[in-house]
Amino acid sequence: MSEQHHGFETLAIHAGQDPDPSTGAVVTPIYQVSTFKQDGVGGLRGGYEYSRSANPTRTALEECLAALESGRRGLAFASGLAAEDCLLRTVCRPGDHVVIPNDAYGGTFRLFAKVLERWGLAWTAAPLGDLDAVRAAIRPGSTRVIWCETPTNPLLGIADIAALAQLAHEHGALLAVDNTFASPYLQQPLTLGADVVVHSTTKYLGGHSDVVGGALVVSDPELGDRLGFHQNAMGAVAGPFDAWLVLRGLKTLAVRMDRHCRNAERVVEMLLGHPKVAQVLYPGLPDHPGHEVAAKQMRAFGGMVSFRVHGGEEAAVEICNRARLFTLAESLGGVESLIEHPGRMTHASAAGSPLEVPSDLVRLSVGIETVEDLLADLAQALG
Ligand SMILES: *Cc1c(COP(=O)(O)O)cnc(C)c1O
Repeated sequence: MSEQHHGFETLAIHAGQDPDPSTGAVVTPIYQVSTFKQDGVGGLRGGYEYSRSANPTRTALEECLAALESGRRGLAFASGLAAEDCLLRTVCRPGDHVVIPNDAYGGTFRLFAKVLERWGLAWTAAPLGDLDAVRAAIRPGSTRVIWCETPTNPLLGIADIAALAQLAHEHGALLAVDNTFASPYLQQPLTLGADVVVHSTTKYLGGHSDVVGGALVVSDPELGDRLGFHQNAMGAVAGPFDAWLVLRGLKTLAVRMDRHCRNAERVVEMLLGHPKVAQVLYPGLPDHPGHEVAAKQMRAFGGMVSFRVHGGEEAAVEICNRARLFTLAESLGGVESLIEHPGRMTHASAAGSPLEVPSDLVRLSVGIETVEDLLADLAQALG
C-alpha cells in the first residue's frame, strides 16, 4: 500500500497489513512460530529466520506503528518498560546523563532511579513545562536524552514538544517522547521534531486491557537500525499473539479516542461543579497552565482526567473504593473506565522522591461506556 496518500484511519487498518500473500487472509495471521525453514543455508523467505529477530505478525505491527507516528521505523517490545530500557541502553552509556520529567510515570522513574542509575546513568528531574528549568538541568557534554511525557501521568502536565526538541538538539541530546497518554491519533511528536516516540501499547493502542506491550518509533533509519540491533540482542520482543492484539486494537484507535475525549469532557464538566472536588486537572481546561501548548500540538485533550478532593487522602481513597462502573485498577486506555489512587497504587514507588504525587489525587481513565452511566457512578462515588 502506498502509505503517503492515506489518512490516519486508513493507515490504522491497512498499513503493514496487505492480505496474506499465501492464502489471501484479510487479517494478518498470528505467526505463532519460533523458526523458519531456509531454502538452502541462508536462503531466507522474506527475511525471516528466528522470531526474536523478526516475525511476520510483529513486522505488520511495527510497520503500522511507524505509519501512524509518521516515522520510518517501528519496533515492538514485550512491554512499554522493555521499550524504554532498549532505547536508553542503545543511546546512552554509563557516565551519561538524562533529564526526566518531575512527574514521570512511576515505572519510568523506577527504571531510571533503581536500575539505570546503578548501571551508571545519572538523571535530573525537572518540570518539563518550564523551559528554563530544563535548560538548567542539562549537563552540556553528558546529557544524552531529554525524556518527555505529555500529557504526564498522573498530573496531566503539558510540555512543548517542538521547543524541547530544539533545546535538546542545541545540546546534542535526543528528545524522546512517551506518547502513551495522547496516542498518535491526538499527537505526533516526530512531526514536531522529537527523535523517538515511546509507547506502552498496553494502553490506548491495544485499547482493550488484554495485552501488555511497548513500542519505539523513529524517523532516522540509522537510529532505527541501532535500535533494531539492540532489540534483537536484548530480546524483549513482542510475541506474535501480543503483536496481533495490538494490531487489532489499532484498527479502532481513532473512533475510540474520539469517544474517550468526548466522555472525558463530560466528566470534567461534572467534576468542576461538584463541591467535594478541589481541583480538576485536564489540559482541555482554559485555565490549565499547558492549555495553549496542548491546543497547538494535540488534536483533542485525551481521555485521562485527574482531580484532587477536599478531605485529603482518606477521602480520595474512599471515592476509589465506592466507584462501581469505574473499576478500581491500575493501567489506563482501555474501553472500560478505571479509577485509581496514584499515591498508593501506580505511583507508590515514587513516594519520598521528587516525583511523589499529592495524596488527595484521584486518576480516571475515562472509557467509552454510555456517558450518563459514568456520570451517575461518579456522582454516587463522590457521595
Ligand atoms: C504504562 C506506562 C508505561 C509502561 O508501560 P508497560 O507496558 O506497563 O511496561 C510507560 N509510560 C506510561 C505513560 C505508561 O502509562
